[in-house]
Amino acid sequence: MDYDEMLKKGREEVPDDLSSGERFEMPEVKTRREGSKTVLENFSEFADKFNRDQKHLSKYIQNELGTAGHIDSGKLVLNGEFRRGQVTSRIEAYTEEYVYCAECNRPDTKLLKEKGVEMLKCQACGARNPV
Ligand SMILES: [Zn+2]
Repeated sequence: MDYDEMLKKGREEVPDDLSSGERFEMPEVKTRREGSKTVLENFSEFADKFNRDQKHLSKYIQNELGTAGHIDSGKLVLNGEFRRGQVTSRIEAYTEEYVYCAECNRPDTKLLKEKGVEMLKCQACGARNPV
């Protein structure tokens, strides 16, 4: 096998752009005040994009903002007044923790439970990490 062939073989075994990963294009966060509540209008868009359960995502956002809320036909209604930037940074933190693979940085991951421990399993590189 010559050098070119070796190089080619190496490339076949390693997914392309391993270091850069393939990041989502994040939808723009749309929030609206409703009295003392903050409504995340396009909440379901994020859950769909991340391929995550709406309840899982909403619980995370609520915990991180230290408030309660509920899902109302694809919208997330949060108790309290929050700026759009606050909500955006919580959603970004969620993707770092629960969507992107810690090894290869790709978003092709699945959440699963093993012996009561939540694991993030990567479909691209096969890594499993507790989250
Ligand atoms: Zn991975």
